[in-house]
Formats: sequence, structure tokens, C-alpha cells
Amino acid sequence: MKYSRKVSKEEAQKNAVFIDKPKLKLFPELGKEFKIKIGKKNVSAHINAVSCTCVGPEKPHEHYYLHLFSSLQFKKGQKVSISKKSPKSDFEMKISK
Ligand SMILES: [Zn+2]
Repeated sequence: MKYSRKVSKEEAQKNAVFIDKPKLKLFPELGKEFKIKIGKKNVSAHINAVSCTCVGPEKPHEHYYLHLFSSLQFKKGQKVSISKKSPKSDFEMKISK
């Protein structure tokens, strides 16, 4: 699998990567801790749900974000790509400057 995004202002503020709902199935279940290789480091991560009313209070729903347990700080405009080469391999994250 491969999932790529450009970091938005909101994601930089939250220091998390937005995960499109249809792509959630590519990742471990919500709240479950897993590892992502970033360069030579193995960083713990999880995906959590944040309730949202961006399409109006009558249509509450959830947005999903990938959080890293790391001091790494995402910056607006960076390109983040997350890949997993096979079901048994680790997740890997590449972040553009
Ligand atoms: Zn929303």
C-alpha cells in the first residue's frame, strides 16, 4: 500500500496526518499502536478519530488522523508518504523537506 498527502495547515497544527476514511482499511485498527520506520528510527504511531461538524451540526461524523509518538513536527506543505511493501513488512514514512 501507499498513502501520500501534502501536510495542510490544520495537520501541521495538530501534528498529525489526515487519513481519508476509505483508506483507513490500509492501516491497523483505530487506537492500536503500531510502528512506522522513519529513516533509521522505528516510531510508534496510532490512528484516532476526532468528531467533526465541518458539514454542519446536523451531520456529525468523524475524521481520522495518524499521530506519531515522537518529537517530529510536521510542517505545512511537506509531502508525507506512508508505504508498506507487503503484509509482513513494516510501515515506512517518507517526509519531504
Ligand atoms: Zn468533518
